[in-house]
Amino acid sequence: MEILNYINGEWVKPGVTEYFDVINPATGQVIARTPLSAKADVDAAAKAANEAFKTWRRVPVQDRVQYLFKLRDLLKTNIDEIARTITDECGKTFEESRAEMVRAIENVEVACGMPHLGKGEFVEDIASGIDELMIRQPLGVCATIAPFNFPGMIPFWFLPYAVAAGNTYIVKPSEKVPMTMQYIFKLIEQVGFPKGVINLVNGAKEAVDGILEHPTIRAITFVGSTAVAKYIYATAAAHGKRVQAQGGAKNPVIVLPDADMDMATKIIADSAFGCAGQRCLAVSLAVTVGEARNTFTELICDAASSRVVGYGMDAGVQMGPVINQASKARIEQLIGIGSEGGAKVCVDGRGTVIKGYEKGSFVRPTVIADVQPGSELWKTEVFGPVLGLMHVNTIEEAIALANSHSYGNQASLFTSSGAAARKFKYEVDAGNIGINIGVAAPMAFFPFSGWKDSFFGDMHGQSMDAVEFFTQKKVVVERWPREWTRKF
Ligand code: NAD
Repeated sequence: MEILNYINGEWVKPGVTEYFDVINPATGQVIARTPLSAKADVDAAAKAANEAFKTWRRVPVQDRVQYLFKLRDLLKTNIDEIARTITDECGKTFEESRAEMVRAIENVEVACGMPHLGKGEFVEDIASGIDELMIRQPLGVCATIAPFNFPGMIPFWFLPYAVAAGNTYIVKPSEKVPMTMQYIFKLIEQVGFPKGVINLVNGAKEAVDGILEHPTIRAITFVGSTAVAKYIYATAAAHGKRVQAQGGAKNPVIVLPDADMDMATKIIADSAFGCAGQRCLAVSLAVTVGEARNTFTELICDAASSRVVGYGMDAGVQMGPVINQASKARIEQLIGIGSEGGAKVCVDGRGTVIKGYEKGSFVRPTVIADVQPGSELWKTEVFGPVLGLMHVNTIEEAIALANSHSYGNQASLFTSSGAAARKFKYEVDAGNIGINIGVAAPMAFFPFSGWKDSFFGDMHGQSMDAVEFFTQKKVVVERWPREWTRKF
């Protein structure tokens, strides 16, 4: 597949000589090459988007969302093809890819409510003959810089809200997974959005820097690792932009002795090993309390060993490969460091080779017991199918342990006690909370609420937060003296 940019309603080849190989992580084959667009390509997209903004913002909101209704229908009709593309370039199973697109579509549906969501406020007679109102206006050109792990969904946490609110847009996918957006932009083209309203620029750091520095781009959303999130947040702010940057995670789950152990194990295994552990909401540290330790350890080790690993399009496969060989090597190295640091590898996924897919970057589910607070495995986001186990004696200790981590994307609790659940949800320092839930992914009508080193900014993606982020408020105070209006 040839990877092109989509600028001003045209498919264009960036004038570059540098490319990044896109690899099917299950087969190891090069399936495309991402052109590493230059700042000049970003400039062309920003100019087109800025020109389009002048008219798009004047299109009535109820007409703007008609384009999104059409896009929603096309995404639904093409969901299997898009899911196949995600599996090919990202590695997750077909069902996981499909589920990702369901969440993308849900965001388009919520953004279709912009005529209501974007309404202003009005107060009559704040003083005699004086009214006050607040209207929301779009910002202008906005952009998303996306990670590799959800190539279809993540731009949709932002894009539909932005364009429904009257902004124009640039998407910069991860250079590792550009094919999904090629497919989706063909649908965007089919919808017939006016030229320049939604643009696609492929590339890596130079394209990102072009976005961060561009004087016309008003707002930037980023999702990716914490180190890059910090850079994006600081650089975009230094260039006077509105910015939200979602970072990495190390999500704890606490298992109390009164939990339903079979249910907890199944859900925690799905969370830790689903999408090969490459979810920002993946559980990566399980903290057992008191008597939960032995039963949970035994059950989770069985669940890890019995998970079916292979190519995500093959029937019965429960877990695909990690994104590439470099990631596999990094994950295996971290498992090794863990075992040297006093932890015990109970189920070891290193050295996995899948018959028929010998060149794939597979790591089988791994369970490591006795992870020590402050150790490398405790601190570092592995972003692979590796679950660390820890043990404490009370729920208070477990919450304190969870809260001592620098990340705050998600925390979960498994229990049958309402009182424990209530304590946990109030006291734990994370933005997305699961009670007997393994992946506490908020629906599109709730914000995606990371905290601490998992999020830099104020307003989050999805829901009213996205409406706030992609609009600026204007407050008008107006006087119409009573004696003037009495004439009519
Ligand atoms: P990444 O940070 O390597 O890349 C993300 C984006 O930033 C890509 O588009 C990439 O081209 C660009 N980029 C990378 N290095 C850059 C640099 N030095 N300067 C400028 N731009 C740069 O992240 P990834 O590996 O693609 O994705 C995995 C990470 O994303 C994990 O840490 C995961 O937790 C995180 N993530 C977080 C959330 C969330 O909601 N918090 C959701 C999904 C993924």
